[in-house]
Amino acid sequence: MSDITRILLIYTGGTIGMVQDHRDGQLHPFGFSTLLDNIPELKRFDVDIKTAQLSRIIDSSDMEPILWQELMDLIEKNYDAYDGFVILHGTDTLAFTASALSFMIQGLDKPIVLTGSQLPIGAIRTDGKENLITAIEVASSKSNGKAIVPEVSVYFEYNLLRGNRVTKYSAEHFDAFHSPNHPMLAEAGIQIVYNLPYIRGSSKARPNFFRKLDARIAVLRLFPGIDPDLVKAILFSGAKGIIMETYGAGNAPSASWFIALLKEAVDAGLIIMNVTQCLAGTVDHGRYVTSSGFDEIGIISGKDIRFEAAVTKMMHALGQSEVRQEIVQILKSSISGEMMEP
Ligand code: ASP
Repeated sequence: MSDITRILLIYTGGTIGMVQDHRDGQLHPFGFSTLLDNIPELKRFDVDIKTAQLSRIIDSSDMEPILWQELMDLIEKNYDAYDGFVILHGTDTLAFTASALSFMIQGLDKPIVLTGSQLPIGAIRTDGKENLITAIEVASSKSNGKAIVPEVSVYFEYNLLRGNRVTKYSAEHFDAFHSPNHPMLAEAGIQIVYNLPYIRGSSKARPNFFRKLDARIAVLRLFPGIDPDLVKAILFSGAKGIIMETYGAGNAPSASWFIALLKEAVDAGLIIMNVTQCLAGTVDHGRYVTSSGFDEIGIISGKDIRFEAAVTKMMHALGQSEVRQEIVQILKSSISGEMMEP
């Protein structure tokens, strides 16, 4: 077997591969071969690049858990044959996909790098070329025969970030993603400078693949004046897990009706995870009196997890078990570096 590095480039859709239709002026996804024709540079890589695509090429606003399962299957099937994986993805839900994959594929010893662009690859000022070329470079990079970044990451506009720590921050700037609670994994300038202390270690064994996801979740985002009937409707909507988006360090109204509803929901078997509406920082139960009763009720602190990671982690956890204790255990531990360690 030759020792040339092999990369599987997976196309899912997104702006990077879209063209403007002259009839309606709107952006539509197009086929992978056209995209590759726009980047002749790929042929100059000293890397063997093979391509694959999802069964449906989508604007990522149409992303669904079933397509995450398809992506996972594709990676699992090809895991031994490649040194790394690059996924081209629309930016809108890229943070959700990166997070979901980090929970579905645990214990990586190879890179999975997601990237996309704000302008189509065919546009003169596209950011897609640099993003794709450097993502491939990152996915191929090794030191002493081992991948330098054996985790799910996102490469965008010179920054390599941990996949389950990112959030789409701008619908306009090339610098579309931020990772407010975790340092960047690498910065690309003339050279790619890796931030080694913050990159997860390589697993010795083959990764574990967790296919099951349970999307029966709901989001309770608090705002001043929220109506008890609305809170009730969300908590008792039939969801099994709730992401509760609170203020600041995890604070919520201290009104007795609110606390009573939360308690009733947890007693009825609901799993509720508290995440902050703030872009940065952590939930800290008990720092203020307005969150002091949460541990006692049985509400789980999401600590410094991002919303996108919280949603997909809840789907993953609910998919793994029916037993409350086991689900809670998954949610409380940092599975793939998505939140601070206990
Ligand atoms: N709507 C597009 C998508 O997420 C936006 C993008 O790719 O930047 O597929």
